[in-house]
Amino acid sequence: MADRSKDPVVVIGLGRFGTALALELTRRGNEVLAIDHRAKVTQHLAGQITQIATADATDMEALQQLGVPDFTRAVVGIGGDLEASILTASLLVELEIDSIWAKAISRQHGRILDRLGVHHVVFPEHDMGERVAHLVSGRMLDYMQVDDDFALVKTRPPKDYVGIPLGRSNLRRKYGVTIVAVKTRDEGFTYADSETVLTYDDTILVSGRAEQVERFSEL
Ligand code: ADP
Repeated sequence: MADRSKDPVVVIGLGRFGTALALELTRRGNEVLAIDHRAKVTQHLAGQITQIATADATDMEALQQLGVPDFTRAVVGIGGDLEASILTASLLVELEIDSIWAKAISRQHGRILDRLGVHHVVFPEHDMGERVAHLVSGRMLDYMQVDDDFALVKTRPPKDYVGIPLGRSNLRRKYGVTIVAVKTRDEGFTYADSETVLTYDDTILVSGRAEQVERFSEL
């Protein structure tokens, strides 16, 4: 299959989410067409993104004139204006864009986008809130929910697991978690194996079911 990771992307709605997304895609080498109906916003970003246009994304003619039907990937970053978000998403579905992403600001909003045929609905504020809750309430340095019930956590080794090879730690049997990688004070992350011996200064990446990873990182 062809590598489509560098396909051009159209990003509609340049609020905080859409702007960060468009700039990061540009930094990663993707061509980006960014659209917003506020001239002030597009002027501010001019020169930083491959192509930027001031247009109303709920207008099919405007989308066609900008060449949006030729894109295989599109992101709708409009959140606050529900009507604009839904109309824009439905036009992208009508244009049969292969991969449509849209931001939702509530469960109901997400459900509507999903029913319209948006392929990937994301909840940036909700997800970030949940993630920060894990960081605020525990010792974790970072937390990522990979699937409904599976998480990857960056944390420090619990003291009982310092100084012994991981192969002798019984971690999987006792806690159901796996230490995937270790970062020592002087080096970047390397994969952990049964002979890896952790020190207090290490940072570890732990994977497993969300509640098990949480339990382990509270030791
Ligand atoms: P955030 O919370 O990420 O800042 P917002 O929902 O506040 O997101 O911002 C959405 C952006 O989408 C705004 O810059 C707004 O001008 C733009 N926008 C809203 N409606 C349209 C539309 N019909 N066409 C193009 N851009 C739009």
